[in-house]
Amino acid sequence: MKIEYKVDFNKIQEVAKMRQIDLNNYSKDEIIRKATENKKSIEKEWNEKEEELINILNEILPGLDNNYIIKIYIFPKEVPVGACNCETKEILFGYKKEYKYFNLVTICHEITHILIYKYRKRNIISRITDETIAFLVAECEIRKRLTGEKYFSNFFSGELSDLHYKAVYTASENLTIWNDYLQDKEKNIKKLLQNIEKNVSKIEKEKYKEVKLRDFLN
Ligand SMILES: [Zn+2]
Repeated sequence: MKIEYKVDFNKIQEVAKMRQIDLNNYSKDEIIRKATENKKSIEKEWNEKEEELINILNEILPGLDNNYIIKIYIFPKEVPVGACNCETKEILFGYKKEYKYFNLVTICHEITHILIYKYRKRNIISRITDETIAFLVAECEIRKRLTGEKYFSNFFSGELSDLHYKAVYTASENLTIWNDYLQDKEKNIKKLLQNIEKNVSKIEKEKYKEVKLRDFLN
């Protein structure tokens, strides 16, 4: 896995439009400058911990194909976003920092979506299980290892989307399965996913099937 940080004005404009954020008070150069400053500090933060984070991801989710480049497009704080396109392996990121290591935890959340995408693509898991795993890996386990914070203690002060709220609930309901998995030396990811997926109702699976990028913006 190789991570590349980028700034793309068109992507910023696209998300701003989608979220109805008015950028008319800023020139293109200003927006690019703000995003580039943000990119510099996030990239630096990431580089200092990259090896550790990739090792943790590989330890929790071993054996997955990660022989690719993930491009992370950094946004200015005026256009907050946290989303990923698993097909193109692109992440859009630019939230305000909620706690120490928040940026790294949230980027790991998006990377997890990309790592386990093949299971969602093959319909082995629904969006709820996908979101639940990203939450368990990043906001729960990785955050705990970086900050010592317990699972579920204040991880986001904004309003969670329906799907994310559901994922947090599903995570809390499946902690025994998750903890057993973490303890298990032979981590069978597919089995973990299937065990959680079994506990998601059919109605919920259908409900979030068509969730699009705008639903992930929060
Ligand atoms: Zn997510």
